Formats: sequence, C-alpha cells, structure tokens
Amino acid sequence: MLRSFRFFLVSLIILAFLPIFASAQRSPFVVGNASAAPGQKATGYLEVPAGVDAGTNIPVVVVNGAKPGPVLALVTGAHGTEYVSIIAVERLIVDLDPARISGTVILIPLVNIASFEQKVPHVNPVDNKSMNRFYPGKADGTQTDRASFLITKQVVDRSDYLIDYHGGDLDESLRPYAYWGPTGKDLQDHISKEMVLAFGLDHIIIWHDRPTDLAASRYLDNTASLRGKPSIVVEAGHAGTVETDDVALLVNGTVSTMRALKMLPGEPNYIEHPVWLEKIVDVISDGPGIWYPLVKRGTYVQEGMKLGYVTDFFGKVILEPRAPEAGVVLHVNAVPSLKKGDNIANLGVVASKAPL
Ligand SMILES: [Zn+2]
Repeated sequence: MLRSFRFFLVSLIILAFLPIFASAQRSPFVVGNASAAPGQKATGYLEVPAGVDAGTNIPVVVVNGAKPGPVLALVTGAHGTEYVSIIAVERLIVDLDPARISGTVILIPLVNIASFEQKVPHVNPVDNKSMNRFYPGKADGTQTDRASFLITKQVVDRSDYLIDYHGGDLDESLRPYAYWGPTGKDLQDHISKEMVLAFGLDHIIIWHDRPTDLAASRYLDNTASLRGKPSIVVEAGHAGTVETDDVALLVNGTVSTMRALKMLPGEPNYIEHPVWLEKIVDVISDGPGIWYPLVKRGTYVQEGMKLGYVTDFFGKVILEPRAPEAGVVLHVNAVPSLKKGDNIANLGVVASKAPL
C-alpha cells in the first residue's frame, strides 16, 4: 500500500518534471562521435585531445529510446580497477533495448582507461590524479582535467539524471552502499531520494557538506547535483573480484531506477527500511607496516573495538587501530601492504532516524 502510494507520488513528480527534459526533440542524440536516431543504439568515443600530456578516447554508448522521455547518464570506471562497476555497465550496454525505453541513456563504461589497462588503482597513471576529484575539469589542464571537462560538457550538461558507479578498489574490501547527497532543493532532493531507494542498496550514506562552488564541484555526481540534476552514487564489488551477486546489484538497481523515472515499463523495486548512515569516519594508518584485519566488510563495530593490528617486518605489533565511533565497516584494507597515511577502514555511522 505504502509502496503503491509512493509510486503514485513519484509518478506525479516525474510527470511535473517532464516539460524541462532536455530530450524533447526526437532527432538523433549525439555524444562525442556516437549518434543514435530514436529507437537506436550507437557507440563512439569522447575524444580528449592531447595537451600538456597525451590525449585519450573514452568509450560512450547512446541508447536513444523509441519513445520520448528524460536523459539518464550512467558513468563508471573513473577508478579503472573497480571492476564490478565497469562490468555492470558493460552488461547494461548489451541489455538495454531502445525499443522499450522512453528517453535516452548515455553510458560511459570506462572513464579511466589507463588505470584499467595498467591495473593501477585510485588514480589515472597518466597524471596521478583521481578521476573523481577534479570536476568540472578544465580544457587546458592535465588529462584528468581535460577528460572531466569533456564529461561535464558532453554528458552532465546533456542529462536530466545521473548515476555514478564505484566499488571497492584492488586494495579495498567493500560492502555495497549508495550515497544520497541532499542539496536543499526540495523537488530535486525528493527525486534523488526516490532514485536511491529505487536502486535498492540497503545501506545509504547521507552525504552532507559537499562543495557548493560550481567551478570546484570536485565529484561527478556533485557536479550534476549543483547543475540541478538529481544524481546518486552506487558502490559494489571488492578487491579485484567480479562476483555475480555484486554485478546483479548494480544491473538490477539501474533497471529499477529507470522504472522509477518512467524510462522503462514496470514497477520499481524500492528498498524498504534501508540503514541510513549520517557520516563516514576514516581510520588512517599512523605508520607503515603489515596489516592484519580482525573485521570484515559489513561488520558492525562498537566504539573502541580493535579493527586489526599492524606489525613491523619483524612481527612486532606496532599499531592497534580502533573504531573511533560505533558503526558499520563499509570497507577495510584488503591487503597486507600499509604505509603511513593509508586508509585502513571507512566506518559508516548509523543515523538516529531516516531522513524525511
Ligand atoms: Zn571509485
């Protein structure tokens, strides 16, 4: 009952939003050099020109639905070794049928090609920058800046909604979760909240205190949010693995969200009573050594609980990192390697109540 009422309400809101959809025209939809007529799927590249360093070609797919509707951007692979997020969007490239879609889907399956090819976690090895920290980008910076600039212009500015996909990197044992970043604009926040509930991941971080400067929005989803486009971040997968269950979470979540946005027929599958997390606490290593975890991804810990220990290369225990607050282990360092300043774990602190 509650669910159908919610569905009715969301339908009204989505319909109210319709007149401003960017895809009102039914001509070919072009992103980079991918051009798809209504009812077609096209592939191509966002061509990042060479500048102070090498250029790159970022693959893009446009699925232009047979019926009119909004434009949804699905972007992944900013971190090219968060494999589940990449494989899930690859699956969607094959599965999404333009004949069934109302609106247009822009899919970017791999932003950071050098990271993927060279198996380098966290950064673009061309300029050593994270490809989700330099938005909205600039035309004359290093490769990451130029790629971010192009994605802002060609993907964010052309979309009505955006989903950014991440996961545990090669050295991160991560349990699935999503981010919802409220902006203070009621209608936009209502839609983005419906998106994150429809996506269905059972732990949701309420991401407060984000940059508000359009010229320094840093994150991709924040860049979209600041431009008035409801957006969410979703994370699944861990430590180089590609497990079927993790891929399914991201694929099914996307389909359910597209249903909530009226881009696919059928009812969305909302998560009921997710765990809302009010903040993330980083546990940072005080020194180098060998890491021995005592918790797993998803473990709930009490304040003060030992998360693991660190030894020197002679086996002597030198550090015993503890939980600064009670919470859930969102991710924990998955490998023995540790240097000073490394992130040992991220804890999500459970919110005292669900957001209104
Ligand atoms: Zn990532």
